[in-house]
Amino acid sequence: MGNDGGSIPGRRDLVKSSARRPTSSQVFEQNQLNASFDWTTCRLSSKPLCIPIVSDCLGHLYNKDAVLEYLISPEEFGDRVETIKTVRDVVELKISQTKGGKWICPITRKEIRAGGSKFVYHAECGHVFSETALKEIVDTACLECGTEYSKENIIVINPIAEKDIARLQERMSRLRAEGLSHSLKPVGGKKKRKHVSGLKDTVRKKERASATDKISNSLAVAPTKLSVTSSSSTDSSNLSLQSRNSVNAAARPLQTNQTVT
Ligand SMILES: [Zn+2]
Repeated sequence: MGNDGGSIPGRRDLVKSSARRPTSSQVFEQNQLNASFDWTTCRLSSKPLCIPIVSDCLGHLYNKDAVLEYLISPEEFGDRVETIKTVRDVVELKISQTKGGKWICPITRKEIRAGGSKFVYHAECGHVFSETALKEIVDTACLECGTEYSKENIIVINPIAEKDIARLQERMSRLRAEGLSHSLKPVGGKKKRKHVSGLKDTVRKKERASATDKISNSLAVAPTKLSVTSSSSTDSSNLSLQSRNSVNAAARPLQTNQTVT
């Protein structure tokens, strides 16, 4: 049914839709609230942030215990955090505090909070500073612990500016291409270790097999050896060593089996 006027929005509809749109001050307030939330609340558990705190590659803050719980059983958390797959994807922050427990920059003494200065940390060591403190320093060693850092590993905490967010995203893509995690540890460390430990396991299995053969061969002889050990004088040390080694060799594979099963 065209041209019946039914589809033309009336004044009421227009007023409604304009009422739904938030004013700029409401947007500002909402942004402030969101910003404050990011600085006071763990993004995973929604509990108040309390030290130890960790941060992912995007500068977001989490309680360390929440991240550990998330890594063990992610299904218990509502949202998946794409930036966190292992503990290597977060850096534990080292935050200076006043006696009253306020978080501050150890250099400028500015309080670390939403709406204040821009705060950053070094991915290499986790020390947190206000950005202005680092701007004035030419040295490339952390002002707190002396760890060498590179500018590209300076992470803005809870970034708002598009260019800061883009820089952190680019940094992470670059690190992934290099096989590194946010904490600058190798992403494939586990796999490599698996490969190495796999080789070691093969060697161990062979050793174990030959040891088992030796034991099974010596088992029939062992009682006589042991009886000789108790009576003989000159060869007793050698024989007792042999028997001790046999006992050790026999004990080793048992221990390994216990841990495997
Ligand atoms: Zn440091």
